[in-house]
Amino acid sequence: MTEFKTESKRLLELVINSIYTNREIFLRELISNASDALDKLAFAALTNGDDSISRSDLRIKLTADKNGRTLTITDNGIGMTREELEANLGTIAKSGSYDFKQEHAGDASDIIGQFGVGFYSAFMVSGEVTVTSLAYGASDGYIWSSNGVDGYTIEALPPDAEPLRGTSITLKLKDDETGEDGGEDFSQYLETYKLRSLIRKYSDYIRFPIVIDEEHTHTDADGNSHVHVEEQTLNSMTPVWQRPKSEVTDNDYKAFYRDTYYAADDPAAIINVSAEGTVSFKALLFVPLVAPVNFYTREYKPGVSLYSNGVLIMDNCADLLPACFSFVRGVVDSQDLTLNVSRETLQQDRQLRVIAKNLEKRVQSELLKLLADERETYEKFWASFGLQIKYNISADYGQKKDTLADLVLFTRARNGSEPSLVTLSEYAEAMPETQKYIYYVVAENYVTQPEVEAVLNSGFDVLALSDPSDEFMMEMLGEYKGKQLRSVKAQDLELPGDSKSDLAEQETEEKELLDFLTKTLSPEVSAVKLTSKLVSAPCALSSGGNISLEMERFLKTVAGGESFGGKALRILELNPVHKAFGTLKTLFAEDKDKAAQTIKLLYLRAQLAAGLELSGAEDYTKLLDDVVSG
Ligand code: ADP
Repeated sequence: MTEFKTESKRLLELVINSIYTNREIFLRELISNASDALDKLAFAALTNGDDSISRSDLRIKLTADKNGRTLTITDNGIGMTREELEANLGTIAKSGSYDFKQEHAGDASDIIGQFGVGFYSAFMVSGEVTVTSLAYGASDGYIWSSNGVDGYTIEALPPDAEPLRGTSITLKLKDDETGEDGGEDFSQYLETYKLRSLIRKYSDYIRFPIVIDEEHTHTDADGNSHVHVEEQTLNSMTPVWQRPKSEVTDNDYKAFYRDTYYAADDPAAIINVSAEGTVSFKALLFVPLVAPVNFYTREYKPGVSLYSNGVLIMDNCADLLPACFSFVRGVVDSQDLTLNVSRETLQQDRQLRVIAKNLEKRVQSELLKLLADERETYEKFWASFGLQIKYNISADYGQKKDTLADLVLFTRARNGSEPSLVTLSEYAEAMPETQKYIYYVVAENYVTQPEVEAVLNSGFDVLALSDPSDEFMMEMLGEYKGKQLRSVKAQDLELPGDSKSDLAEQETEEKELLDFLTKTLSPEVSAVKLTSKLVSAPCALSSGGNISLEMERFLKTVAGGESFGGKALRILELNPVHKAFGTLKTLFAEDKDKAAQTIKLLYLRAQLAAGLELSGAEDYTKLLDDVVSG
């Protein structure tokens, strides 16, 4: 006997012992594997030009033996060689579920729900699993068996066994539990009515017949009863995306979505595409409402399943959707794809590009529709996938920014009202005529940003963003429908009532003081200036040059970011009508040391408000010690 790898063993224990209420899903998992095996065979036969295999012969058969308490699931698919039995059923770690489980040690049923545990779910209902398999093109069959606890054995089938191509999985069902609170009834999985209802529930859309033999007894004219066996097909087979739209209810689509993608919630949107023309295809796409737990990790496989002529070509065809919509799930089915080529050459397929373009447009317009018609749902969707959309505005030199700009939701700050979520278009529509720019701020907490106040007091709204990478997005967007986006940190906000000449005059008047202050803070700060954009704050930091303070903050958070050009050129702006400025003036005349100390404190204050990391903590502690000691 070969022992299971340690990690497989632990996951197995988890599966078997978890108080998992939904044990019945084992059947869905095994049938889905069998269906994959049939798909693989159909694909292999097609690429090998093997005419001996006809798609119409491919099937999955269930056999229940009540006396022996066994349930067998048989497929005549691609089968497994000895090596494949070993590799596929001997270890579970490669499926990714285990790695994931390690990172997110939590509720086991969550993981099962999210990924399915595939083959191993057999052990939720069975204490002994036997897999007999003959691989396509092979002459020797093998038998794998395990009690799910210690390990497994693989033996060659005797030469006279004459196995059929494919895989047969026999489950010896556990004894029924008879506890006070009920316990699990495993015998039900031997009943045709139960199997039929499970197939209807989970596997109806499987595109191969799932059959079971049913015994019928009938009594003839002489009173003798006869038993005859009839094969019944349990699933309706037509995949939900191929059924006429009029025959499919929203609930059918939702059930398909939940079962196929292990989703706990209904999708935010269901998109049905039926295209005729240069390339004819059908697509059924889903926009999830909630991000799968692994969405923002490398575990997540983007893409939709691609079918052609009823044959599954690829499970996760990433070429069919742009990265910005990688959250979309679904299937594309086209008869027009050139299929007798390898999966690699498919990537260059012109027809595939036509489909991809069409899908991108559809997803965009459906999202806009959702935004317009079902705001609450859209906001939930945005909470899940907003990051992905925002990130993709700046990705690839802004290639997709026009597709995405109208989908972004911003927090809008407005004087006298609660912050709310708005689009760029909603912001722009509410702009008074006197407003030249679309103002925004990128800060962990916009309320502490002194410049925001001046803009709000001018009667203009401010878009508040909090992710440091948002700065990239805003720079990439640059403008919206002819209106420039302008950070409140910019040197010139051009607010009404701003008088540049007054300020310039005052700066000349105070030149001696400002030079002194600049020298005191140099080289950290490149200039100390006066500003009219502050209201109640005495000072604020802004930046000259190409790198803004937000960008500096962002570059610090990404690996290697600092080598990009490091620091923003810092400008300390003073509010000339604030009391602190008067204090500075007096001190400058009477006590230069105190004036220097005060400007350093103001610089410290400005850095704190900007959310910057303070460098040289010792200097600051010394400064504060001096101040509190008088
Ligand atoms: P997953 O299906 O998620 O890869 P499973 O544990 O369900 O994980 O199955 C592991 C592997 O075993 C499959 O990827 C497949 O290669 C193989 N396998 C399982 N069942 C069958 C079957 N009925 N026929 C052929 N191969 C199978």
